[in-house]
Amino acid sequence: MRWALIGASRIASSYMIDALRAQDGAIRSVLSSDAVRGERFAREHGIDRSVSDLGELLEDDGVDAVYISTTNEKHHAQALASIAAGKHVLCEKPLAMTLGEACEMVRAAKDKGVVFATNHHLRNAGSHLAIRDMIRSGRIGKVLSARVFHAVNLPEALRGWRINDAAAGGGVIADITVHDADTVRFHLGEDPLEVVAKAAASGLGQGVEDSVMSVWSMPSGAMVESHESFTHPFAGTGIEFHGTKGSVFARNVMTQEPVGEVVVVDADGEHAVPFETHNLYEYALGLFKYAVQGSGPPAADGVDGVKSLAIALAVREAARSGRAVAVDYGGF
Ligand code: NDP
Repeated sequence: MRWALIGASRIASSYMIDALRAQDGAIRSVLSSDAVRGERFAREHGIDRSVSDLGELLEDDGVDAVYISTTNEKHHAQALASIAAGKHVLCEKPLAMTLGEACEMVRAAKDKGVVFATNHHLRNAGSHLAIRDMIRSGRIGKVLSARVFHAVNLPEALRGWRINDAAAGGGVIADITVHDADTVRFHLGEDPLEVVAKAAASGLGQGVEDSVMSVWSMPSGAMVESHESFTHPFAGTGIEFHGTKGSVFARNVMTQEPVGEVVVVDADGEHAVPFETHNLYEYALGLFKYAVQGSGPPAADGVDGVKSLAIALAVREAARSGRAVAVDYGGF
């Protein structure tokens, strides 16, 4: 696979470039809106070419796929242009600023016949794959409820657009709630019907929320409680599923690293659950490569990205209005 990077971003430099290369990906070019920064980025990462015009990047017939990791408000236009140029697309979450935009991206890719995937990393973790297997096999019986703990201390280096720029897609809901929505959907295999929520802005940034708590009702009757924040230095992360035959407790698993602990508790006591510790992003890129070859779906496809965004937007609207909000999936 021959890739172009759309966005000279931190996630590209800290995780995705290595993961692309680990999956035999060649990176031909990088797009940056700032030519000087783009050249520096290319040099630092051994990429031959940096450009500041998207059309120029997409004209390259040697590029099979693009990885979009710009700020959120740019994903829509960049994805549509890439799809029109016949490139397969791996797009960062949230797919777009609005549900309509995200749906348009997914439909355009389908019409063009290119693979379109969303970079939801958590579902690729060995811990989450093991949890999902347990739930799907009936190990904990009928799931009654789930709790997500994803309140972190936003690292200093990330305290830019995420906490100050609503127009660029800032706020903890766009940043973390989308991931939690995807993870819960992945485990339960169903989509929330309705949500209630409260959000808060502690003063960390300007104009966007930095904490949110929400409750979701699922079609099966299960209830989900989810907490995301940028302001919690010591809370740790985790996810729990409580069923009629057992409960799963997973700690330190809402992370980019292949770490954490998973235990299941049932009538016979507490049992440690072993899991694989592969790289989350390499795993996703392996599946993306197979999808391009026509062998199965990517780890999270475009519809998964639409649905995680739909849930996040419903949480935001519920917090804003103080009312219960039915989740609108835009027809998906
Ligand atoms: P960054 O802030 O690092 O990069 C976003 C954009 O900001 C870049 O495209 C770049 O613009 C610009 N930029 C980068 N560095 C500088 C700088 N020093 N000065 C001025 N501008 C700069 O964003 P992230 O990597 O944190 O996030 C990018 C996307 O990836 C978001 O959509 C986010 O939600 C997602 N993400 C996903 C993760 C996952 O695990 N799936 C984890 C982290 C982020 P240009 O390209 O024009 O140079």
